[in-house]
Amino acid sequence: MAKDSNLDLIRGNYARQSDQELIRIISQEAHGLTTEAVQVIKEELAKRNLDAKLTQVVEVQNRNFSGEELDDLARFVETLICPVCHKYTQPLTAAVISQTMSFVIMTQYSNKLHIACPDCLKSECNSSIGITLLLGWWGFPWGPIRSVQSLVNNFKAYSAINHHGPNDYLQGFILANIGLFELHKNSRENIQNILHNLHKNLPLNTDI
Ligand SMILES: [Zn+2]
Repeated sequence: MAKDSNLDLIRGNYARQSDQELIRIISQEAHGLTTEAVQVIKEELAKRNLDAKLTQVVEVQNRNFSGEELDDLARFVETLICPVCHKYTQPLTAAVISQTMSFVIMTQYSNKLHIACPDCLKSECNSSIGITLLLGWWGFPWGPIRSVQSLVNNFKAYSAINHHGPNDYLQGFILANIGLFELHKNSRENIQNILHNLHKNLPLNTDI
């Protein structure tokens, strides 16, 4: 009974979304859904006559991926154009780059995943280290604490950038957004666009 009313809630929630929002939810938030919830999504898609490949997008987020499959996708992402310098010089890679800025009692700490060519990642890392060294320390009490955290994170970022082959950050990003990669797997341009949106801090999937 409780299960049925939960399903009604889910059904009502999906029914209220615009097509665009439903596609976004399906491609980015369908991890770990129950079989019943997946069925509700399928019914909603059929009701709206939305592309059948979206069903696959839901399913792909709820199955286990082999290391090999992830590796293939990561190798593909490596071959894309760098979203920062717009060139292809070396395989793209990923790193989490951290920065701290303090203003008297306020400290801003950020930790962000970047995917770009190694040169662009290194220059982003250097600039974040420079900003942190210059502006990170002056807030109390968090300035020094967060500055140290940022510097430690950026040293880790350096080793991720120098890692040979797809690193854990790149694979983690692909796995977290596997629905998007499935949705766009036949369009190099759309996958390129995901990287562009990540770089510009835009919603990853703006272009369906
Ligand atoms: Zn670049």
